[in-house]
Amino acid sequence: HAKKHQRAGYTEFGQEFEQQLQRRLQVASELRHCVERNELQLYYQPQICLKDQKVIGAEALVRWIKDGKMIPPGEFISTAETSGFIVPMGYWILEEACNEQIRWHTELGLQLKVAVNVSVRQLKDPSFIGRLDDILRRTGIDAKCLELEVTESMMMENSRDLRKILQLIRQRGLSIALDDFGTGYSSLSHLQELPINLLKIDRSFISKVTKSEEDRAITSLMIKTGELLKLRVIAEGIEEAYQHEELIKLGCHEAQGYHYSRPLSKADFMALLQEYPELESS
Ligand code: C2E
Ligand code: MG
Ligand code: MG
Ligand code: MG
Repeated sequence: HAKKHQRAGYTEFGQEFEQQLQRRLQVASELRHCVERNELQLYYQPQICLKDQKVIGAEALVRWIKDGKMIPPGEFISTAETSGFIVPMGYWILEEACNEQIRWHTELGLQLKVAVNVSVRQLKDPSFIGRLDDILRRTGIDAKCLELEVTESMMMENSRDLRKILQLIRQRGLSIALDDFGTGYSSLSHLQELPINLLKIDRSFISKVTKSEEDRAITSLMIKTGELLKLRVIAEGIEEAYQHEELIKLGCHEAQGYHYSRPLSKADFMALLQEYPELESS
């Protein structure tokens, strides 16, 4: 009896696995045309300076509009990474974000930073630095207004090649943020070796802030780590006013989250900038 049960369980697992594989293959083949079909859009989520509550920039977050339906990056980024399509897609994203930053500047007179997520697969593309230079030149963006976000887990591999690429990026005046900080296992010495400018505390820590003394202490330690390494610290996923207040008390520099604004279409983000050049959060 037990054996029969096991076999049934296995088949079920096998079917589910097969279905998942089918879905990924389908996503991968449809994804290949998303750029030429103009199916990609960038949404922008404001980033706030906690000292004066001003909008200092935005994170660009990709959306795939397929048959009128919006597909979140969680459903296609990993497929794009394994298929390699993240590379051409990433260049489109980078250029689009830079062009938009120029629009905020020319149309509204605002010099904001734009933060763009990049995966390690993109950084390892041999033509990355050359393409980055092309994009900087073509769009005319001031390099110091462009920030690249790389996740802490991506940096765990700690290879010399990767550090070299990050250094070349830094030499051009861009800044680099360590995204999802706290979810990897970086030691202080590893962090110290990375050519980064800021730590972006993962949402999972922010959601626990003030729930217990212990969780508050962890976030506090992460902010102190930033201070020690002379890095700016940004918190992501602020949803409640008390989290905002607590992060100010803990000395965090910047923040981002639904409490201030959800990611917005480019038109909506422009409208927000026009209406609230100084976004008050209370
Ligand atoms: P991430 O870079 O850590 O981005 C933050 C995610 O948290 C975004 O989800 C954002 O919409 C969401 N978020 C922001 N504030 C809040 C909040 O207060 N509460 C909650 N619950 N969530 C919040 P999104 O847009 O679905 O993106 C998910 C991930 O996909 C990103 O995580 C990033 O790793 C990846 N991604 C997004 N756009 C790109 C891209 O252009 N290129 C690459 N390579 N990856 C991207
Ligand atoms: Mg990010
Ligand atoms: Mg993050
Ligand atoms: Mg995250």
